[in-house]
Amino acid sequence: MINKALDVLNKYFGYNSFRKGQENVIDSILNQNDTVAIMPTGGGKSICYQLPAILFDGITIVVSPLISLMKDQVDNLKATGISAGYINSSLSSLEYKTVKEKILNNDFKILYVAPERLLSQDFITLISNVNVSFIAIDEAHCVSQWGHDFRSSYTKINEFINLLKTRPTVAAFTATATEEVKNDMVKLLQLNKPSIFITGFDRENLILKVVQGGNKEAFILNYLKTHKEDSGIIYCATRKEVESLFKLLNNKDIKALKYHAGLSDNERLENQESFIYDNCNIIIATNAFGMGIDKSNVRFVIHHNMPKNIESYYQEIGRAGRDGEESECILLFSQSDIHLQKYLIDVSTYNENRKLNEYNKLQLMADFSYSNDCLKKFILNYFGENYNQDCGKCSNCHFEGEFVDKTEEARNVLYCVYEMKRPLGVTSIIDILKGSKNKKVLRLGLDKLNTYGIMSNISKDYLKTFIHTLISHRYLESLQGTFPTVGLTEKSIPILKREESVIFKEFVNKEYSDANNELLTILKSLRRDIATDENIPPYVVFSDSTLKELSIRLPINKEELLDISGVGEHKCEKYGTLFLNVISSYVNENNITLDFVFTKTKNESQARGSSHKSKTIEVTMDLLSNNPSIENACKQRNLQIGTILEHIKKYLEEHKNTNLPLDFSNLYDENNEKEILDAINQVGRNRLKPIKEIVNPNITYDEIKVVIFKNYFVS
Ligand code: ADP
Ligand code: MG
Ligand code: ZN
Repeated sequence: MINKALDVLNKYFGYNSFRKGQENVIDSILNQNDTVAIMPTGGGKSICYQLPAILFDGITIVVSPLISLMKDQVDNLKATGISAGYINSSLSSLEYKTVKEKILNNDFKILYVAPERLLSQDFITLISNVNVSFIAIDEAHCVSQWGHDFRSSYTKINEFINLLKTRPTVAAFTATATEEVKNDMVKLLQLNKPSIFITGFDRENLILKVVQGGNKEAFILNYLKTHKEDSGIIYCATRKEVESLFKLLNNKDIKALKYHAGLSDNERLENQESFIYDNCNIIIATNAFGMGIDKSNVRFVIHHNMPKNIESYYQEIGRAGRDGEESECILLFSQSDIHLQKYLIDVSTYNENRKLNEYNKLQLMADFSYSNDCLKKFILNYFGENYNQDCGKCSNCHFEGEFVDKTEEARNVLYCVYEMKRPLGVTSIIDILKGSKNKKVLRLGLDKLNTYGIMSNISKDYLKTFIHTLISHRYLESLQGTFPTVGLTEKSIPILKREESVIFKEFVNKEYSDANNELLTILKSLRRDIATDENIPPYVVFSDSTLKELSIRLPINKEELLDISGVGEHKCEKYGTLFLNVISSYVNENNITLDFVFTKTKNESQARGSSHKSKTIEVTMDLLSNNPSIENACKQRNLQIGTILEHIKKYLEEHKNTNLPLDFSNLYDENNEKEILDAINQVGRNRLKPIKEIVNPNITYDEIKVVIFKNYFVS
């Protein structure tokens, strides 16, 4: 059974192997066991139900909470050649009618519906006429009050299932791993002795960074400047902060979108689409954004503020790097974030018990932000996983900034707190240090202090952040009262006495460079053109990682194209020629090194891929052993000369057989050969273009290739 599943994975989705956990989950479902799959966001849950759906006889119903998600998933399935549809309120009555007909004709393998739909009489009648073999419940944590996005209609899914004549296999999927949620899923969905799979929560391609202190806005501006090509989400804690950051970016001419509950439905939808369709790379959002975003090429998630707990944090950063490519998750943390989150819990409508629970979770989030240990380790241990090594990539394992001596500045602030002799808040301290003439300062005689005006040339914003950083490192403490004030701590004394220094880490934005991004940019623009034509999101055409692999491996025909991860048969047929043409003209026109062209190595040797490949080489070599003419082989096989040469090279590498008779006639002219060899003496043979530029213009790239091959690879 699982072999069949592997075939389907390959044929439709174009992937060569299962990701962690997928195989077990799919196997369990194919054996018709009720199943619970808990996998991190981006872990690949969809395939776990889409794949069995393809193999099962009847139709599969996928219950999914968000309308926007359904359209994308269905587009995605259609692009891979799987017939699917959805029913939700966005359908016109005509569209609804068409969908109904298709269901009754057994045209769909997969049908997406929102949970609210399940108990509508119309739907029940419709479904009673077809064979439902499987029900998949996506985002199944919505069934639980403890889950962060509870949906009461989820608690009625079991009623719908009970109405069906034959009970189908039922599987629940979520990224929420807590015990309470898991138990609720099993109980409230009335799962029948489910097999429960909890996959490792590590998303290896996510690089976690916590940046403490410093100016958040400056950091973001700098980051965006060095990541212009990348798509990313910036999360803020409140609408107000979304708006102000949005304004700031606008003023700096950086294109960005915004998303929060204060916008109209229409505006939200528009902005979300614009982000998904790569019309704009950046979206600034509150946590209202993200559920239902399956965009696979999100390269970074920046948190402008610390989220309320680790579950939310992990879910939000999980939206980065679904395609498996490395992606950065940067938390810009300041002490005031904790106060804000505390306040939000205070004013919430939760009961006391729940509030206590939320405070505890907040504390752990703060601990994470302060932690000096591996951040991956912290999170995975939080989710109950045994992870004892260091990830080697997070901002604690691998610090990319510099250590800056802040002793003098710190001493000024601490001394100010020491000599003010009465409890004052951060604002007053800043007033003193900046030498403000405001009434309170003068009335209290604070202008007489030694530290009055001592930091007048430093900006208010900087001072504010700096004082909070001192608090977060416990050089000062924040004293709660009617008005929060600031006091000295044990750690203040040695600084005041000049016995110790204050060293802060300052994060430095690393310059971003991608060695091979010229072709990648071209491929991305082709992808966007196709997506625009078909009115689907670009990542549905091909993911970033697929494009990247294309730009590195430079396939020259459909066989090779199928070998690229993410290229299934359907997409190969549909888009193959377009991409191959672009790649081949790039290879021909742009200095691609010949050695590189001939020695493309496969990342991994994949079962189907390599057998495929050796097969095609075999055919070429068979032809050549009967007739050594390379020209003949090209004609017989209808392949480009470069491909045939590559086959020969691969064969030679494996067989070390130098007695291979090869006939190069008609492929080059002897005078031209001399000219080409002369040119190689001048400019080397690593790049074709410089050679082409200095030889007679009627000498072709193919001819140059043949001459190089004949003289350097077979002799
Ligand atoms: P989840 O629902 O768990 O958050 P998705 O189902 O949206 O994650 O999958 C995330 C991404 O991973 C998608 O782009 C999907 O195509 C890709 N993916 C899933 N399974 C595999 C696999 N076996 N090999 C490569 N990519 C995969
Ligand atoms: Mg999902
Ligand atoms: Zn680490």
